[in-house]
Amino acid sequence: MPAQHIHCSVNNCHYWGKGNVCQAEEIMVTSDALGDNQPDKVDAKMAADISPTPADSCMATCCKTFVEKGGNTRADGIRRMS
Ligand code: SF4
Repeated sequence: MPAQHIHCSVNNCHYWGKGNVCQAEEIMVTSDALGDNQPDKVDAKMAADISPTPADSCMATCCKTFVEKGGNTRADGIRRMS
């Protein structure tokens, strides 16, 4: 299922697209703590197995799917749609 309605301004991400539209087939948003503690392979494909992670504010959340352009995009199995 394409994440075509995800708008994101992080334009140094591999999945970022023109118009600030995320081009990842799916993404995983989680807490900063989980993002810090889990390896790159833990991502949207494993979402059903990840325990809920409450956050106090938007600043305590992150996009776990982020991969810097030129980085390793194979660790999590997420595909770029276009
Ligand atoms: S994967 Fe995350 S950080 Fe990258 S463009 Fe999509 S929403 Fe933004």
